[in-house]
Amino acid sequence: MSDLASSVRQRRTFAIISHPDAGKTTLTEKLLLFSGAIQIAGAVKGRKASRHATSDWMEIEKQRGISVASSVMQMEYGGCVINLLDTPGHQDFSEDTYRVLTAVDAALMVIDAANGVEPQTRRLLQVCRARNTPILTFVNKMDREVQDPLTLMDEIERELGMTVVPFTWPVGMGKSFAGVIDLRAKHLRVFEPGEDRVQGGDERLPLSDTAALTQRFGMAYDQAAGEIELLGEAATPFDAADFLAGRQTPMFFGSAVNNFGVQEILDALTELAPAPAPRAALQREVAPDEPKFTGVVFKIQANMDPAHRDRIAFVRVMSGHFERGMRLKVVRSGKELRPNTVVSFLSQRRELLDEAFGGDIIGIPNHGVLQLGDTLTEGESLQFTGLPFFAPEMFRSVEVADPLRTKQLKAGLQQLGEEGAIQVFRPELGSVLLLGAVGQLQFEVVAHRLEHEYGVKARITGSRYQVARWVTCDAADGGETELKRFINANSHRLAWDAVNAPTLLLEYAAELRAIEENWPKIRFHAMREHA
Ligand code: GDP
Repeated sequence: MSDLASSVRQRRTFAIISHPDAGKTTLTEKLLLFSGAIQIAGAVKGRKASRHATSDWMEIEKQRGISVASSVMQMEYGGCVINLLDTPGHQDFSEDTYRVLTAVDAALMVIDAANGVEPQTRRLLQVCRARNTPILTFVNKMDREVQDPLTLMDEIERELGMTVVPFTWPVGMGKSFAGVIDLRAKHLRVFEPGEDRVQGGDERLPLSDTAALTQRFGMAYDQAAGEIELLGEAATPFDAADFLAGRQTPMFFGSAVNNFGVQEILDALTELAPAPAPRAALQREVAPDEPKFTGVVFKIQANMDPAHRDRIAFVRVMSGHFERGMRLKVVRSGKELRPNTVVSFLSQRRELLDEAFGGDIIGIPNHGVLQLGDTLTEGESLQFTGLPFFAPEMFRSVEVADPLRTKQLKAGLQQLGEEGAIQVFRPELGSVLLLGAVGQLQFEVVAHRLEHEYGVKARITGSRYQVARWVTCDAADGGETELKRFINANSHRLAWDAVNAPTLLLEYAAELRAIEENWPKIRFHAMREHA
């Protein structure tokens, strides 16, 4: 195997998906701790803006400032290089989260054992399912009084439409939580509470010594043994192909805050989760161990210093080997880029990066040369597909208080739109720009940033629109000609988005059905991929 191929094969790139409060931050920190990437627990915690201040955009600002360093964390474990991508927790930023999920090869779903499957988890999981992303499941907070494991397992299977294959099984819960049984190694790992140590909690008892186990853990053990027996009869064996296709999820139990069950997750990531696989571009499929570099921008984040307006483009390396100072082509614009100050993400520190391989994430500071969805290559004309934009669900009109600053407003919105912070629409008729978002908070952040970064006091007011759909027409159905006919007939409710894609705007969802019936050759899209 070439050095390149073996480096790629070591990569594990994943994200944690969960509902707020399930324990994502805690588990992230513990993964870093166990892999030796950080020494002190609590280092990750500090970055988390208070999620209770849900509409406090000052908090969001703060979070934006510090989250660049922690939005990607790289650690080494078990001979693998693990890239953990953070997903913004607040649901108003779910669009950003969806795009982050396109850059990973697997996801770790954290479930609060008391609450079971919660709404945010369900939504994020749907995105993973749509892409057949393999999912590992971690059932957290077993040190609390929670639902019984069979009920939980059943709920996960039903709600998420995946077969759950338990790899560990809990013995007791809450005060009587005794530990987990490793169903493959056939031992019980004894629970030992404790927040900050990595060592310890290592007591393992073989299942063969039933008498000793029953004596020590009593009822809790007997019950677990009974459940396992039940499982044994109905169990689907683990099938790697089914897991990789997103049909089966291995399930682990633990307590992140007590460092319990974290090791098993790291082991599963290295042993079960996949290395980078080939990715589709419009022109061809790209293998991760091809010698030439390719990558795609899946996230853009304004940099720490708003005054400089530089931003970091997060690039997932799709193939080849990245070296500092190499010449890259931005395929969309044909422009050449020679990034010298690329950053990598080693746990908490932003470091200057020297090299990266397929599956890694690199950050390229720039002033707008790079946009969401951009493909970078060594010269080849390639466009990776699959970066989603979702039709906004909320709309606002935006104007400037001072008409002399119209230019600044447009420039600001252009940049914020390119970052993916908001969607900007130019109506076919009239001159008032429209903003589209999936969450209310996005409008507040945009107003705040327009004022502080672009010196524009924007007047953001309500809009009558409720629904947006991108419209296209296949060549076989009349293509551009038919699309033009549609646009002309609907000019009063048509707008153009940031990349000049025609968008139909409606006041009521019911209107859409009527229009779809009247225009059978036009296709209406709630999601568009970057083209
Ligand atoms: P996030 O919103 O998903 O990032 O959740 P956090 O990691 O911030 O955790 C939410 C709360 O649950 C915090 O108060 C944690 O201390 C707590 N927590 C996390 N893991 C556990 C656990 O295993 N047991 C218990 N009892 N609490 C936990």
